[in-house]
Amino acid sequence: MPVKRKRTGRIDRKETFDDFLAMDDLLVETEKEASQFVKDKSGRRLTDVESRKANALLDNIRARLQSLSAGDPGLLFAYRRRIHIRLMQDERGRPALRRKLKAKKWLDQKGKCAICGKKLPKAASELDRLIAAGGYTVANTRLVHHICHRKQQASRGFK
Ligand SMILES: [Zn+2]
Repeated sequence: MPVKRKRTGRIDRKETFDDFLAMDDLLVETEKEASQFVKDKSGRRLTDVESRKANALLDNIRARLQSLSAGDPGLLFAYRRRIHIRLMQDERGRPALRRKLKAKKWLDQKGKCAICGKKLPKAASELDRLIAAGGYTVANTRLVHHICHRKQQASRGFK
């Protein structure tokens, strides 16, 4: 069935494209920025005991990845990347959903930045969560200029 095989191939390529978009998002949000985001916007941090549990889980996952890849560095890379992207999507939602939300917020805000009120080109815009742990929902996000977001973070002591 050539049609079905072609269709499957297209889905696989789209999956990969979404993964690349997800990686772009990760590059925008540095680890330091992300941890400050959690601290300042959701008020929930891990206790020392919880941190130790999280680190033990991470050690366990690393050992399982080593075992699964059996000394193949390329396979280890692929497994690690898959887990990384999927866990990140658990928090941020899938890129296709975020793109849809972005389009809706852009219409809701009449194409204007929620911080400075000026015209907001879609390409220069980003979704800002009001509460980090609240997820990417209509009620918990606003669309802002990337530069306005950075300036606001800087004024709040984010570096
Ligand atoms: Zn702005």
